[in-house]
Amino acid sequence: MGRVQDKVAVITGGAKGLGAAMCRLLAEEGARVAVADIDMDGARSVVSEIEATGGTAQAFELDVTDEAAWDRVTDEIQQALGGFDVLVNNAGIGLIGTVEDTTLEMWRRTMAVNLDSVFLGTRAAIRVMKPQQSGSIINISSIEGIIGEPVVAAYNASKGGVRIFTKSAALHCAHSGYGIRVNSVHPGFIATDMVTGAAGTLEDPEGFLQEITRRHPIGKLPEAIDVAYAVLYLASDESRHVVGAEMVVDGGYIAQ
Ligand code: NAD
Repeated sequence: MGRVQDKVAVITGGAKGLGAAMCRLLAEEGARVAVADIDMDGARSVVSEIEATGGTAQAFELDVTDEAAWDRVTDEIQQALGGFDVLVNNAGIGLIGTVEDTTLEMWRRTMAVNLDSVFLGTRAAIRVMKPQQSGSIINISSIEGIIGEPVVAAYNASKGGVRIFTKSAALHCAHSGYGIRVNSVHPGFIATDMVTGAAGTLEDPEGFLQEITRRHPIGKLPEAIDVAYAVLYLASDESRHVVGAEMVVDGGYIAQ
């Protein structure tokens, strides 16, 4: 039996990067996976990969900032896959900007995609998980939700919001006796499109990648699969006593 056998796991931003790695691993471990994204081509290609290895997955179009879409998609997923046991709020964007050069538009877009989405997703998941008295909600924050970084003011604020919102929602669910656990995951830097894209806007992208690698005491950047394993643990019943926790996957970056 797989570690999440027969659970239905929904991963937002599942079309590429960290989300795609989570989709593949959870499917390998027995989950029926909903790949939810605005990028339907990417989502369908992750579904094809999973199906090619004998897993079960389906693509769902979801803009995580759209309140009405959340209710529609959670119902569609339940009907299509026969449940809703795990939600990974993973979709996110990373815009580069200090407090001085962040525009209000950049700030609001970052908050909408990185933080409003986590609130909307968590609330929608609680609605469908509450009657079944079980569920695991995993919010992807970042080490940037715990420590400050001068060049990502809006991103820092959004990911710090995800961290503390997670604890509030976790306590509410625990006190209410819902059987729903809510936790956050805090990756270090991983060379996905988000990071290489942001690095590309800097004067010295190669120097930036060398510098962030140097800051991970383990001597290398984490990989998407390292984050996926943390998500797998929190999605599985192995973590049944883990509530409102923050799991850091950063090779020791913030231990310093
Ligand atoms: P990525 O850019 O590779 O993938 C992001 C995915 O989110 C894409 O598939 C994209 O289509 C989707 N997405 C974007 N906006 C969306 C929206 N409005 N609705 C639905 N889907 C949307 O990014 P990634 O590096 O895989 O990051 C995934 C998550 O991990 C993000 O929350 C990010 O902040 C977090 N994170 C990443 C790193 C890193 O170093 N890569 C580190 C810490 C945390």
